[in-house]
Amino acid sequence: MTGEKLLYIETFGCQMNASDSDKIASLLKGVGYKPTTDSARADLIILNTCSVREKAEHKVYSQLGRLRELKTETRRLLLGVGGCVAQQEGERLLKRVPWVDLVFGTHNLHQLPDMVRAAERGERRAEVQFIDAETRLDLFPRDDASGSVTRFVTVMQGCDNFCSYCIVPYVRGREISRRSAEILDEIQNAVSDGVKEVTLLGQNVNSYGLATPGEISFAELLRKIAAIDGLERVRFTTSHPKDISADLIACFSELPKLCGHVHLPAQSGSDAVLTWMNRGYTRREYLEKIAALKAARPGIQVTGDFIVGFPGETEEDFLQTLSLMEEVCYADLFSFVYSPRPETKAAGFADKVSRKEKQARLERLQALQLEMTLERNRTFEGTRQRILVEGVSKRGDQLFGRTDGNRIVNFTADPSLVGAMVEVDITRGYPNSLLGEIVNP
Ligand code: SF4
Repeated sequence: MTGEKLLYIETFGCQMNASDSDKIASLLKGVGYKPTTDSARADLIILNTCSVREKAEHKVYSQLGRLRELKTETRRLLLGVGGCVAQQEGERLLKRVPWVDLVFGTHNLHQLPDMVRAAERGERRAEVQFIDAETRLDLFPRDDASGSVTRFVTVMQGCDNFCSYCIVPYVRGREISRRSAEILDEIQNAVSDGVKEVTLLGQNVNSYGLATPGEISFAELLRKIAAIDGLERVRFTTSHPKDISADLIACFSELPKLCGHVHLPAQSGSDAVLTWMNRGYTRREYLEKIAALKAARPGIQVTGDFIVGFPGETEEDFLQTLSLMEEVCYADLFSFVYSPRPETKAAGFADKVSRKEKQARLERLQALQLEMTLERNRTFEGTRQRILVEGVSKRGDQLFGRTDGNRIVNFTADPSLVGAMVEVDITRGYPNSLLGEIVNP
């Protein structure tokens, strides 16, 4: 191949994958690939996949089916698959989908430039072996992209919790915390580049440092980050309820830069289901942590995840989930129907909840949440919120930013304000966003 080569990346699943996609784009710049948003013009298409839910995995295979048509005799197109499906399938994927040129696992991003060069020579390869802890520490994704006022910073990867339904420990590997000195250095540099807000990222971010002798705790890391001059805001995601320590809760009262939002997946409101899920906390313990967070930071916005139709979940268990939702009063939720994942313990449980019943429960849960989200968003009407202006809204004629509690706000103002902290009077609460008027434009 000669001349400029174009790279199109399609990202499935979570923010961790989105962060990996940025890293892939930056690695492939080194072998001459420039990102494009037009898959029809790309020389290399990479699907960065998610296998956390069956539906997401099916989507990847149907997309691969569609992409086959783009590979014609007159068009030289390379096709790569990375992420969790690649990790899970490895060589099998090369055999099952003969038009795929390369498959790379969650620990193998650093091998991608070599693999792409090999694919350009016609060699098809799958690299999905996990790497040792020292090498992982040296290869932590670092996002040096410039131009945005917000940035994601990966602080840990993998998970040791083995919730019975979850494939993450198998496809992302064991938990590892990045060196704190490196994290602080990355954030310091980001602030020098104009970044105002960082979101600390990890599968189980609040267990940061726990398994690393000599490393600081997550609460200590937050305090050090909050002390960085010029940084306005810190957020983090995703948290595990069992690792919300008293010290971390104290940070919400101590650190004004720590935003008043916590994403705390409960997954179920029933103790029986939580035990089968191997979540490591009871409904009461979860609610006690929520109460402590609300006391430490009045007005804190809580979001969460729920799985409905877990094997054995009865109507009574499901009602416990709905009542937990009402007690916590979530600002928003991600909710899913249970689907068995390969290798997980729950895949061997007798699944007695019918597909129809699971779907009906999901619809009931989502209808309740929609009502609660709208009601909550309306409570902001008439309030004044401090917003970090992040950019021009999708419609193109407004700016958008987020409140301290992570609600999106759209308002009309001059685009030169992108990157500034402004005050906005909220005039209307909608299901997915708030509308406001800037104060002293
Ligand atoms: S905490 Fe549980 S649900 Fe979250 S990544 Fe780990 S195993 Fe999966």
